[in-house]
Amino acid sequence: MSRASALLSLQQIDDRIAAITSEIATAEASLRGDPELGRLRRTEAAAQEEHRALGTNARLAELEAASLQSRIRELDRRLYGGTVRNPAELMEMQRELEVMRVRLSTAEDDALERMEQVDQSLASLQSASALVAARESQRNDSMEPLRERLTTLTAEKELLSAERDALRADIDPGDLSLYARIAAHRRPAVTGLAGEFCAGCHMPVSNEERRAVRTGTGLTQCANCDRILAP
Ligand SMILES: [Zn+2]
Repeated sequence: MSRASALLSLQQIDDRIAAITSEIATAEASLRGDPELGRLRRTEAAAQEEHRALGTNARLAELEAASLQSRIRELDRRLYGGTVRNPAELMEMQRELEVMRVRLSTAEDDALERMEQVDQSLASLQSASALVAARESQRNDSMEPLRERLTTLTAEKELLSAERDALRADIDPGDLSLYARIAAHRRPAVTGLAGEFCAGCHMPVSNEERRAVRTGTGLTQCANCDRILAP
């Protein structure tokens, strides 16, 4: 294997290790917790709280209407009960009764509107709870395969790391540090030729350099982007 090909193999292993490491991190985060489930639970709690508050309001509005009704009944009884005979007083009671009836009508409308709000908030709460339940069941179903996947990934990563160590042991330390230096700011650090061009930056590579890449034992770098050119 040429020095450039060895670095290319190393790069392929490094890339696979990086991809697996990122997949492991995602799987571990999913196993630890589910941000979406957390969000859905907060939405459900908010819906619950709103439903409770609206229920309290509706009960207060109903009590207000009931209290007006009983005061109207009481006034009605006194007005037509025959105990009050003074016409001025009777007129006054009648006026008061009319005012109370208007207030009752408003209070009843208000109570009805609040009951409708309670019904709507119950529907919102039920749909929020259904979303939580669906997410929980989906999560439970996916936990086991995810744990298995994590085990597979971890084993694969260990295998690749061993492969990587073995490969690095056969590579010249100077080549390793050149690769590391380029990889720190250019990915991929090792690239092929695309016809007469560098496959990394697409600038032309001279005949002499292309020949060196194909046949040479040393490392050839692209004059433009610094990448190591592999055959
Ligand atoms: Zn280049």
